Amino acid sequence: MNSFEYVSPRTVDSAISRATVGSRFFAGGIDMLGEMKEYIASPQVLVNVKELPATRDVASGKTWTIGVNVTISEIEQHAGLKAVFPGLQQAAAEVGSPQIRNVATVGGNLAQHSRCWYYRHRDIQCLKRGGSTCYAREGDNRYHSLFTGNPCISPVVSNLAIALAALDAKVIVRRGRDEVALTIPEFYAKAWDNPEAHHSLGPTDLILRVQIPDEGRASAYKQISEKASFDWALVSCAAAAKVDGDKLRQPRVVLGAVAPVPYQVAAAHDYLEGREVTDDVAGHASEIILKEALALDQNGYKVPIARALICRTLKQLVG
Ligand SMILES: Cc1cc2nc3c(=O)[nH]c(=O)nc-3n(C[C@H](O)[C@H](O)[C@H](O)COP(=O)(O)OP(=O)(O)OC[C@H]3O[C@@H](n4cnc5c(N)ncnc54)[C@H](O)[C@@H]3O)c2cc1C
Ligand code: SF4
Repeated sequence: MNSFEYVSPRTVDSAISRATVGSRFFAGGIDMLGEMKEYIASPQVLVNVKELPATRDVASGKTWTIGVNVTISEIEQHAGLKAVFPGLQQAAAEVGSPQIRNVATVGGNLAQHSRCWYYRHRDIQCLKRGGSTCYAREGDNRYHSLFTGNPCISPVVSNLAIALAALDAKVIVRRGRDEVALTIPEFYAKAWDNPEAHHSLGPTDLILRVQIPDEGRASAYKQISEKASFDWALVSCAAAAKVDGDKLRQPRVVLGAVAPVPYQVAAAHDYLEGREVTDDVAGHASEIILKEALALDQNGYKVPIARALICRTLKQLVG
């Protein structure tokens, strides 16, 4: 392993002052250490963010705040979050295994890197690692995207991102001297266009917290994986809406593991607005969402899974 410096700043200013293009922020280390052990990342400085103040709390209110170092287990087990944002709690409960959830943080989950096996192979320099070829396009693409805006077909796999997108959450990021509030679409937008990007953060952008408006909306999350635990989703789906009688208001449906960004289609939200969730309505919404799906050699099975998940998640939302 290459030698590196490890620093544990106690203030956000000092964390920012230690961040450079050659450094990486370090939280639970589940993803970061994996990348270092495989020589995919060789940072000169690891900036441990876990000692930063006020980053481990969950605060309720008209807008809920979740500190960046809150663990996924803490989200899973937080009674208030479970009551107000059940979709977020369900997404947290499906992450990896209890051991992973006990260590992994909100910030690390949102900023985790691609799971594409070509990207993760130490000897393969694919497009995402600055090479010239996407090996998955003509190779083993069974876990890859149905939608993308660039030649890389690696999908976003963060469970929390999918649930937070449905809840219209914002990620508060320290960028230079400023704090910026990014919607989840903004947080991932760069990955849609740029094959080398995993998200829209620059190397010195530091996530501080996540904010979720409490607008009395129901929420739900479902996923299908190959294994019951210790595995990522093949496809996931989150939905949120105000349920007015039986009718949906401000509906959101978001798919995960099918695009480099949490995938949502405004026309489906427009269609669902003011409607009751019947089999026909859920089925038509899924047709709108999946209209542009472009299956590759080995991932066409994701289309019927996504269709079923959209219908089941919408029913759970109102059920
Ligand atoms: C077997 C296995 C199964 C898994 N299954 C799932 C799953 O089903 N669903 C899922 O969502 N995830 C899954 N994961 C991924 C896991 O949830 C993430 O690796 C974990 O959440 C990362 O969090 P961390 O705190 O360990 O981050 P770290 O590994 O410390 O960091 C991850 C990335 O985030 C960056 N980072 C960390 N904190 C900040 C910050 N404050 N600001 C800016 N950047 C930051 C780091 O630089 C790094 O690039 C799985 C992982 C494993 C090993
Ligand atoms: S899908 Fe992306 S990460 Fe995977 S081989 Fe292609 S360019 Fe690399």
